[in-house]
Amino acid sequence: MQPYTASHSPGRWWGVGLVLLLIGACARQPDTPAAHELLNATLWIQHSAEYRAIGLQAYHLARTNLDRALADPTWTAALEQTDRYSSLPPAVIIDVDETALDNSPNEARLIRDRATFTYDTWDIWVEEARARPVPGALEFCQYAADKGVTVFYVTNRQDHLREATRRNLEQLGFPLDEHRETILTRGDNSDKGPRRAALAKDYRILLLIGDDARDFSSDFVGASLPERNELPAKYASWWGRKWIVLPNPLYGDWEKVIFGADGYALDRNKRLKRKLEALRYE
Ligand SMILES: [Mg+2]
Repeated sequence: MQPYTASHSPGRWWGVGLVLLLIGACARQPDTPAAHELLNATLWIQHSAEYRAIGLQAYHLARTNLDRALADPTWTAALEQTDRYSSLPPAVIIDVDETALDNSPNEARLIRDRATFTYDTWDIWVEEARARPVPGALEFCQYAADKGVTVFYVTNRQDHLREATRRNLEQLGFPLDEHRETILTRGDNSDKGPRRAALAKDYRILLLIGDDARDFSSDFVGASLPERNELPAKYASWWGRKWIVLPNPLYGDWEKVIFGADGYALDRNKRLKRKLEALRYE
């Protein structure tokens, strides 16, 4: 009978088994990458022909309607503009993020780092001033400026990011006015209505261009999910005419309203749970 040795002890085989299990687990890892909520939307923006085509389509429409608006002194795109505006100089109001500038590299970094949005990482990205234009946006803004139309960038970027925003827009060739501040950051109010109202006193607003419904009407501010989905029909004749909307599947009020009152203050797991609960199956 073969003598019982240490090499045949149960403890040693357990050890070998454990090592093999760990090797197996490591080998399987490349096949099971961790998912991230932003992956598809970010790839769509960065790599789809369709996203580029939609940008060009939207800004082609904007250009055509700008010409119509210039020729029609009764035309205004701002609900805040109600009287005595026909002889005012013309302007357009364009949002910045995901309307003029494409911030998808910031989302890509969040995916890479398995992170979610924070103002710290957002500020780092904005300060780099490396965002590229949304397809069609730069050419449209230059066209408007050539026609004597002032382009106002009404953004909910915070005030301390105004100079970085200016640097980014300037480097790309977006028109900026030397005599008047044309980058209107959020101040202490994320509702853009008061900023539109202030501009409407001095300019005839020909077009509003944005990626969030709040870029067009304050009706959308604080609206619930059902209200939000009812409201576009109320302004059916404005979309594609006075209001030009760009797609943003990355983030926005559409997402925040799904999270509910706690919004982005919820942790990632709770946000994901709310999203899954919001899915419709019929
Ligand atoms: Mg935006």
